[in-house]
Amino acid sequence: MRVHVVLFTSDLRVHDHPPLRAALTAADAVVPLFVRDTGVAGFLAANREAFLADCLRDLDAGLRERGGRLVVRSGAVVDEVAKVVTETDACAVHVAGGVSAYAHRREDRLRDTLRRLGCDLVAHDGVVTCVPPGAVTPDARDHFAVFTPYHRHWARHGPRAVVRAPRAVRVPDGVGGEVLPERADVAGVSPGLAEGGERAGRALLTSWLRSGIGAYEDRHDDLAGDATSRLSPHLHFGTIGPVEAAHRARAAGGPGAEAFVRQLAWRDFHHQVLAARPDAAHADYRTQHDHWRRAPREVEAWQEGRTGYPVVDAAMRQLRHEGWMHNRGRLLTASFLVKTLYVDWRVGARHFLSLLVDGDVANNQLNWQWMAGTGTDSRPNRVLNPLTQAKRYDPDGAYVRRWVPELADVEGSAVHTPWKAAGLDRAALGDYPDPIVHLPDGLARFKRARNLD
Ligand SMILES: Cc1cc2nc3c(=O)[nH]c(=O)nc-3n(C[C@H](O)[C@H](O)[C@H](O)COP(=O)(O)OP(=O)(O)OC[C@H]3O[C@@H](n4cnc5c(N)ncnc54)[C@H](O)[C@@H]3O)c2cc1C
Repeated sequence: MRVHVVLFTSDLRVHDHPPLRAALTAADAVVPLFVRDTGVAGFLAANREAFLADCLRDLDAGLRERGGRLVVRSGAVVDEVAKVVTETDACAVHVAGGVSAYAHRREDRLRDTLRRLGCDLVAHDGVVTCVPPGAVTPDARDHFAVFTPYHRHWARHGPRAVVRAPRAVRVPDGVGGEVLPERADVAGVSPGLAEGGERAGRALLTSWLRSGIGAYEDRHDDLAGDATSRLSPHLHFGTIGPVEAAHRARAAGGPGAEAFVRQLAWRDFHHQVLAARPDAAHADYRTQHDHWRRAPREVEAWQEGRTGYPVVDAAMRQLRHEGWMHNRGRLLTASFLVKTLYVDWRVGARHFLSLLVDGDVANNQLNWQWMAGTGTDSRPNRVLNPLTQAKRYDPDGAYVRRWVPELADVEGSAVHTPWKAAGLDRAALGDYPDPIVHLPDGLARFKRARNLD
């Protein structure tokens, strides 16, 4: 009996899954395997651990509906895969091609180990991203450093065709696995964390395409409207494939769909930068020779949502409560930390990664670098003024009132400047803090630091 192994990583789905499809076509039986990698245990924040538990249970359910099941093991990935290959005498292992330095190392080590066991490693492109890193490049360079030309080439290349979900999955007898993890066993999870799993992801995509995407172009920056897809955790864990999302969005048609697909291209863009420059996960992509401040009390106020700037605080509290934050919130809170407080982007990126359910090295680190002006932004010194941002993207203050209970009774846009309240109104704000920094001072400090005076 020909046995192949499918190693699931950030592709926890049965729909549009080229590795699973290829294994089922070539083999008589397949081992769907997920290894809880003890090497990255520290990286997996509680919110992602909990979401992952949902995803594994749902993937197992999806495979069981087709006559199979998910085998879960814990340990070093290469060792665990090698054990399963030996136990089942498998002749090939299929995996989605990764983009991070970690994924590349894992792939190299797997290939070496499997070769010694007489087993092939087949890495499949177009599973984690729509267009594989390196598939489109500028002349004489290994990646695009500017989004607009990347997007042009990306659109011309297009995604591969969608692969149908299998009808049947046959798993060889006797392959042992662990009890599946449960969300309830994970401590420290954000109370408003979304549900994980392919079923939840597909339902979300369907309702988004039916009733959300049409208004996306006009409303994606409306903080209170919350009118983005919220698909990012599903794209991160691969419970929705980006290729299928792009095809189905295109089929929906219209300017909203085009704008949404463009965001998927941004996702691919950051992945191709990280694939070519893995050090960008921790080092400046384009240094500005910053000598960042260490400001522990201000950083703590930022993390806690107590900077005294309500729109910043609302977004930081949304992050803590949901393990997710609106993109406009991510932009303005990041600008506040790196530009207004002039604190190292790595400090902010680390905090985001400790909470974000969609937290991922390519998108998080490179968006942080974009906002810090050390990444791919062609305007590295842009500063987002939180008051201007509030006026533009939360004009009535509804977003702030939702997330900052101390300010819930302040009507209209006055909620953005609580320090202007006087007398009894001021007393009613309880212990909501005064601003921790005067914005013009922060701007002047940043300009001095970057020699922009
Ligand atoms: C400082 C900062 C940190 C970020 N960290 C992450 C992160 O760790 N993980 C993450 O997935 N996104 C990150 N983003 C990008 C973006 O904010 C989120 O992808 C988006 O808010 C997710 O919400 P959504 O699914 O409703 O997005 P939608 O607006 O519905 O967009 C659809 C999809 O496109 C992709 N996308 C959208 N915007 C971007 C972008 N700027 N860069 C890359 N992909 C994008 C996402 O996969 C998203 O799910 C970060 C942005 C900033 C400014």
